[in-house]
Amino acid sequence: MEIMVAKHAGFCFGVKRAIDIAEEVASKNKGKTYVYGQLVHNERVIEDLEKKGIEFVDDIENIPQSAVTVLRAHGEPGTTYQQLKEKNINKNDKLNDATCPLVTLVHNVAIKLKNNGYDIILFGKKDHPEAIGTSYHIKGKDTFVAEKPEHAKELAEHIKKNDFKKVAIISQTTMSVNGYKELIENINDLMESKFEELHLSLNDLSKPHVFVDTICNPTKQRQLGTEEIAKKADIMIVIGGRNSSNSKELAAKSRSYGVKTHFIQEARQLKEEWFDGREKIGVSAGASTPDITINEVVERIKDIGAVQEKEKRINTEILG
Ligand code: SF4
Repeated sequence: MEIMVAKHAGFCFGVKRAIDIAEEVASKNKGKTYVYGQLVHNERVIEDLEKKGIEFVDDIENIPQSAVTVLRAHGEPGTTYQQLKEKNINKNDKLNDATCPLVTLVHNVAIKLKNNGYDIILFGKKDHPEAIGTSYHIKGKDTFVAEKPEHAKELAEHIKKNDFKKVAIISQTTMSVNGYKELIENINDLMESKFEELHLSLNDLSKPHVFVDTICNPTKQRQLGTEEIAKKADIMIVIGGRNSSNSKELAAKSRSYGVKTHFIQEARQLKEEWFDGREKIGVSAGASTPDITINEVVERIKDIGAVQEKEKRINTEILG
């Protein structure tokens, strides 16, 4: 049995940075440290941080006045900062902002496009915290969010109905590269004026219909790494938190290559029968999966492989 682990599997730098910030803040803080929202979409990482005195809250109301607070990597809408300010939790004081710089970059892109007359469409998941944070810089809850390439028809109708003169499409950082490409192809099939790519530096803001590639490089590397091994594997194991958008994208990418793919959160979910007759095992993991979980999965697969080899030998001896 050969086990292939994808290059760049596991924590991206933005998630690692957010965890480091939370741990450092908690280690220096004598009282409780509050994190607004899930810092990363991984249950195990969250449990470990809770043991270090960090409390996760989904509602700002549950953060006490002047409490030491950390904001997650996904990026928050301005209303979050305002509500925290009212609780005397401010930047440079009690507030520690772990927003990933690559998410801030997308916010800045959205602001610049908007200031230059573009109506902006977001390719993302409506309920994802990053999409909510980015939408704040576009049109708030009225932002048009296309979740799949198949939403191109509604998108084209939305543009026509509102008679937008300048339209820009941007993406959540964790979306599928191929999905984004497909969305642009689909919309261009429906529009007279085609969407053209505008470089991230936003060097030409005169074109009426543009799209900007705002999917982050760590996401692209993980998708590419998964793609490379999914092409060779008999079976794929993708590890990631249940709510992790980028991990689910990796599982979908793997399935798109027709390989049997199991999406799991931890090693104990592996089932021996999945590996019957399989020789090439691919393992990939989303940006919010810790190395320890990846290693445990690999070790468990090795154990299953060793047992199956032994059984094969015994059966051959009996039959032989
Ligand atoms: S997936 Fe990309 S944007 Fe999101 S935290 Fe990681 S590096 Fe940052």
